[in-house]
Amino acid sequence: MGRHITYPKIIFMDLEGTLLKKAIYLDNGKVPPSAWTLLAANLGPDALREEEETKDRWLRGDYGSYIGWMRDTIRIHKRYGLTADTFAQVMDTVEEMPGAREAVSLFHQRGIVTAIISGGFKALADRIQRNLKIGHALTGCEYFFSPDTGLLEHWNLLPTDYEVKVDFMRLLMREYKVRKEECVFVGDGQNDIWMAKEVGLSIAFNAHPDLKRVCTYVIDQPLGQEDFRAVAACIDSHVASQPSRQSKLSRSRSKG
Ligand SMILES: [Mg+2]
Repeated sequence: MGRHITYPKIIFMDLEGTLLKKAIYLDNGKVPPSAWTLLAANLGPDALREEEETKDRWLRGDYGSYIGWMRDTIRIHKRYGLTADTFAQVMDTVEEMPGAREAVSLFHQRGIVTAIISGGFKALADRIQRNLKIGHALTGCEYFFSPDTGLLEHWNLLPTDYEVKVDFMRLLMREYKVRKEECVFVGDGQNDIWMAKEVGLSIAFNAHPDLKRVCTYVIDQPLGQEDFRAVAACIDSHVASQPSRQSKLSRSRSKG
């Protein structure tokens, strides 16, 4: 009789540093470098300095909420004249993680629902979501630019701190009627800890040491040789190592 394979039902994926490469050259160890930092760097040294100051305020707990932090950063983008062109150019510099395409395609072949969770820009998630046909995405910030001046005109902000990220996971689990034990999380950041703890199977992908400590599996690859296919391989070997549904049933029967 064929062995019954049970794949996870939903995989939740962090975006920057996980499905997308991170800008390592901008890493000062404070808060992981993201497209927010890339944008500030592109607007000049003063904008970058102000962006770094917002990170200090965030770490001190001055903002009270993630939206408060984003609003303060947007103030910088407006002041330094962020345009649609600059924004698009910077978003384009963020590269896909090698192997992400192949791994996500495998997840879909196995019937796994895919979801991106990110406190970053919707524009970044849009690109990879469309290219990789990822099912769902929660992102922090969407920008609207003036068609006349090209300048930043308005925005949509969603609370995407760790609590809301976990809420989003629960929302999808409820929608698909799956238990957290049937879900996977993969990420790289210290702020991914709460999401990793929420699911049955968590994978730290070239991650911060604090995230590695709480994850089921740790993938560590040399800098410049990151390959997301290792995540798919990790899930496959985990699934293969699980007792099949049939043998679980026989065991419970034999206990009488
Ligand atoms: Mg990340």
